[in-house]
Amino acid sequence: MIPVTKTFFPPIEDYQAQLKRIWENEWLTNRGELVKELELKLKKHLEVTNITLMTNGTLPLQIALKVLGGKGEIITTPFSYVATTSAIVWENCKPIFVDIHPEYLTIDETKIEAAITPRTTAILATHVFGNPCNVEEIENIARRHDLKVIYDAAHCFGVKYKGKSIFEYGDISTCSFHATKLFHTGEGGAIFCKNEELNHKLNYSHNFGHNGPEKFYGVGINAKMSELQAAMGLTVLSYIKRITQDRKAVCSYYDAHLDSSKVQKLKLRKNSKWNYSYYPVIFESEKSLLEIQEVLNKNGIFPRRYFYPSLNTLEYLNNSRMPLSENIAGKIMCLPIYQGLDVEDMKTITEIINSYGE
Ligand SMILES: *Cc1c(COP(=O)(O)O)cnc(C)c1O
Repeated sequence: MIPVTKTFFPPIEDYQAQLKRIWENEWLTNRGELVKELELKLKKHLEVTNITLMTNGTLPLQIALKVLGGKGEIITTPFSYVATTSAIVWENCKPIFVDIHPEYLTIDETKIEAAITPRTTAILATHVFGNPCNVEEIENIARRHDLKVIYDAAHCFGVKYKGKSIFEYGDISTCSFHATKLFHTGEGGAIFCKNEELNHKLNYSHNFGHNGPEKFYGVGINAKMSELQAAMGLTVLSYIKRITQDRKAVCSYYDAHLDSSKVQKLKLRKNSKWNYSYYPVIFESEKSLLEIQEVLNKNGIFPRRYFYPSLNTLEYLNNSRMPLSENIAGKIMCLPIYQGLDVEDMKTITEIINSYGE
């Protein structure tokens, strides 16, 4: 079976060597040696000002919204993973959707201002498939209206924009290190924040508000990464170059072989350095997507409809129509991409797509 993605498993000996350190330290969590080492290594690798590791990629969104959202209206994108929206609802804020750009697939910044009300507190946008939002224009809008900017950068490990890590944009950025992501710690995630004062607040928020064993800086939650997760992260990180190269090769194959009259590909924003995290293709219609999906499935190939459905259609929301997002969500599919994907399989995939309708 060819799935949409396969978790990268490092050689078990490498992982065991990291685990041995944990056993020697007899220390499993509460910001141990491995978590701190992984933070330092990632800070250097990603070239970011600050990073706090967390236990998944959703809690950083919740913490960011708790600290900056103020139970207000949050302007957000309907084209993302459900966590972007559910975190807003979970934090007692109200998602206000703004439709997406049909080629970049990120929030359409030209439609943001019309959605701002006196109750708006923040913008939470997703860099979709590692493709940066229009960060400059979003920053201008936020400045004009005194709003905070949070980026769900779950897909963005290693992405640069204008030579700078994409995590350095906005007031806060978050990332996911879930097993299905480019860089992973099994479950895991991180929060990024350049402002030292705000970063401090985020840091204590993720550890119950602890300031030493008996004092507290304020209210907090438990979002700490464990040493076991950090052990996986340290192990995977030493293979990140190879992982990225292999994914790049898959993308190049699809780029070269997919008939571009049959599918629309992701339009990358200028001045960005991409990370080959996903390979989305947009078909002419939902009907053609479903028919192609059926043929692929019959051949043991299981791409994923991602993102689907458009988040404004979630049953616990009662929101406006988002024609572009709903349209794209209906006809977009992510093709298999992972380290070790066979050329023969890529050939089968591209041939099935290219021969559709002939
Ligand atoms: C994966 C993902 C998340 C959630 O991250 P977890 O680590 O699974 O909690 C949030 N947003 C987006 C866009 C994602 O792809």
